Amino acid sequence: MTDHPLERRARIDLAAVRHNVRTLKERTRHPDGTAPALMAVVKADAYGHGTVPVARAALAAGADRLGVAHVTEALGLRAAGVDAPVLAWLHTRDTPFAQALAADVALGVSGWEIEPVADAARAAGRPATVHLKLDTGLGRNGCPPAALPDLAARAAALEAEGVLRVEGVFSHLAVADEPERAAETDAQLAAFEAGVRVLREAGLTPSVRHIANTPATLTRPDAHLDMVRVGLGLYGLSPFPDRPAQEFGLRPSMSLRTSLASVKAAPAGQGVSYGYRHRTAAPTVLGLVPLGYADGVPRVAEDAPLDVAGRRLTVAGRIAMDQFVVDLGPDATERVGDPVELFGPTSGIPADAWAEAAGTINYELVTRIGSRVPREHV
Ligand code: PLP
Repeated sequence: MTDHPLERRARIDLAAVRHNVRTLKERTRHPDGTAPALMAVVKADAYGHGTVPVARAALAAGADRLGVAHVTEALGLRAAGVDAPVLAWLHTRDTPFAQALAADVALGVSGWEIEPVADAARAAGRPATVHLKLDTGLGRNGCPPAALPDLAARAAALEAEGVLRVEGVFSHLAVADEPERAAETDAQLAAFEAGVRVLREAGLTPSVRHIANTPATLTRPDAHLDMVRVGLGLYGLSPFPDRPAQEFGLRPSMSLRTSLASVKAAPAGQGVSYGYRHRTAAPTVLGLVPLGYADGVPRVAEDAPLDVAGRRLTVAGRIAMDQFVVDLGPDATERVGDPVELFGPTSGIPADAWAEAAGTINYELVTRIGSRVPREHV
């Protein structure tokens, strides 16, 4: 919490993050009381929410592991003193595998990475912990079925040599956010099971099988396996356009806030912002909101809702790099400095409303809130 007012800020409610972790753990508990482990996915600066504070909050609430895309993200967690198990799964030839091993970062391995990871482990004189990633249909990284017997044999040989430890096996789902396409998710789950059998036949015994993202965590218990990997749900957002997060007991954690930077009278027919895409119909009062597309407020989100001092209004005209305009109406009583919330639990405006106005998804909306907007963790 800062002790001075911030001009513009994304306020992150860490109590909501903790609540969401507990809720997700509760929802995934089996009738016999056991539960899959929960990996908190904190890549991309925790979807814009701030990696380190979110990771700490998630761990405090019972998350078992952390997940990121890049080794550099995992190293950032280590540099901040976060020593929980962390898995990084997207690599290039330049990925610092040696640093990953030195920092005890587990590595997703889809194919080619196995050799540089093994080289780094030999050089370090300690085995690398890996999770083999299977492509069960998404078509991104992950080992395709045809190449799996070879990868499994190589991993088994390196495990026997003491260079690798295959702790896990995982995959990623393509359409879990579209429940009506359950058959395609079923096919991915079946392909995953077949892949796990191939690994076992090669003598590998990965103890952590994981494939569920947030939508599968919420709706597909058969996909929970040994661990769920939750990103969006952690932040209190729903992956389903027609099912709000509240339906699952989740609480949104980010509010995007600022205050009016200018308030002024405008005549009828006044063009507003670039392109004059809004024109005042009658004499009115225009307010200026000091957030723009350089802050991650999408340029195309014309007509998105916002809350100005408790009133629900909409964006007027184009969103510019640093600012946009709101038409306060002729009887406006607002003044410079009055509070503005674009989305967040206080106003009740969901991030989804902005995502919809911008023709995108809530994942992209929150992830793109820019580095110029301070994160205020409360
Ligand atoms: N697992 C992997 C491999 C991912 O790339 C992601 C995010 O894109 C997740 C899990 C988390 O997905 P979600 O945010 O839907 O929970």
